[in-house]
Amino acid sequence: MESINPHTGQKIRDYQPFSDERVAILLKEADQAFQAWRKTQFAERSKLMKNAARVMRERKNELAQLMADEMGKILRDGAAEVEKCASCCDFYADNADKFLSSQTVESDAKESYVAFDPLGVVLAVMPWNFPFWQVFRFAAPALMAGNAGILKHASNVSGCALAIEDIFLQAGFPKGLFTTILVPGSSVEKVIRNPVIKAVTLTGSTPAGKSVATAAGSVLKKTVLELGGSDAYVVLVDADLDLAVDTCVQSRLINAGQSCIAAKRFIVVRELREEFERRYVEKFKKIRFGNPNEPTSDMGPMARVDLRDDVHKQVEKSISQGAKLLVGGKIPSGPGAYYPATVLGGVKPGMVAFDEEIFGPVAAIIEAEDEKDAIRLANSSPFGLGAALFTKDKAKADRLSREIEAGSVFINAFVKSDVRLPFGGIKESGYGRELSSFGIREFVNTKTVYHGNTKTTKTPEAVGAGAALE
Ligand code: NAP
Repeated sequence: MESINPHTGQKIRDYQPFSDERVAILLKEADQAFQAWRKTQFAERSKLMKNAARVMRERKNELAQLMADEMGKILRDGAAEVEKCASCCDFYADNADKFLSSQTVESDAKESYVAFDPLGVVLAVMPWNFPFWQVFRFAAPALMAGNAGILKHASNVSGCALAIEDIFLQAGFPKGLFTTILVPGSSVEKVIRNPVIKAVTLTGSTPAGKSVATAAGSVLKKTVLELGGSDAYVVLVDADLDLAVDTCVQSRLINAGQSCIAAKRFIVVRELREEFERRYVEKFKKIRFGNPNEPTSDMGPMARVDLRDDVHKQVEKSISQGAKLLVGGKIPSGPGAYYPATVLGGVKPGMVAFDEEIFGPVAAIIEAEDEKDAIRLANSSPFGLGAALFTKDKAKADRLSREIEAGSVFINAFVKSDVRLPFGGIKESGYGRELSSFGIREFVNTKTVYHGNTKTTKTPEAVGAGAALE
């Protein structure tokens, strides 16, 4: 497993994958750590989670540099990502108790309530594109709920993976509660089968999600899947065109276009399509791509040369199917995994740029006849992660947002994750939700407690996650 700097093309380091025996020992240690951790009170967990936030803020520059070196993220975006992780830790440190406190339910019982118990050791299979954020948005709620975590990160960001384990240790979490295992994707099925693992979460491509869901399903372990997307940004006739163009440009190029919720298909009604396209291409022409360490770069390289080459093949295939190259589309000479900001016009269903996810800085512009046609096109995708609508009419936006097949719809704004709001997809974009109160309930046992003629009862309020188990 090697880390290669996508700016220089030079190898940073080789990492030896862990042996099966070493993984088995680490899983056992995780289970032991879980058995003690599940009995802790929220206050203790919160204290450590706040420490993790503090450690990350203190190490912000170092962690941002690690991301720049291993996957090409520009430094200011890396620093923002670290801050977002720290806020996520703070959020769950402050709110986990509230989200997971037992709920009294009236029934024919003398007293009945719902309690939320941790599941155990959860395996997280994670991608390289937001190497800290993807992990923390799983880890902060999962650990606060009383679980332990095993991280199998993408093979090209092993340095980030080890740094994350180190952050939790430095914050004072018990050894074994959050552990990184360095193994390739092909070893994941074996790990899932280990009886210590009680559930699996995967953020990554749809094929990887299907493979993990199949393995976990065969041993009846719960999965949460955050997969690919081909988000539609729908620009309607009454849109604020300046806002729509700026937002659509920004959303397509974030993280060099390597974001699951980046805008990928721009569906513009006929009356506005030509003007939208003209302004959009002008802005793409001005994007400066280059060294992620330079503050003047708008966009860094892609994460790996093989991924860049895949994107280029998708662009070429789309052109051969009739799409029009409006800007970009040429691999620059020199080292690194660079790809220019690229716009394809005249994209239609049946073309690669419409039907597949393009995980790089490539925009597909699609003309719709009218509002109804725009929604039909938005939904004509195997994916259903996010979507955006541009219109000045709130009532129309509310109505159409309910017709769009996606896990979230943003109006006059670009789709983003926010720790306070649930995040996830439908269709081939996966299932389950992360973040907010919904996310923390994914890896818990929602337990009914029913008192028949019990003589002495505790009030549900007295039964905190830890207290219930003492
Ligand atoms: P990927 O190739 O699917 O890899 C993601 C993770 O899954 C890596 O840790 C990888 O390990 C592992 N993996 C790959 N194949 C596997 C298999 N057959 N069984 C078990 N594990 C496997 O995806 P990626 O290229 O890293 O990331 C890009 C994709 O992730 C895009 O499709 C993007 O949309 C999606 N994504 C989704 C979200 C979301 O929240 N919905 C967020 C970010 C990214 P190795 O590295 O060792 O192969």
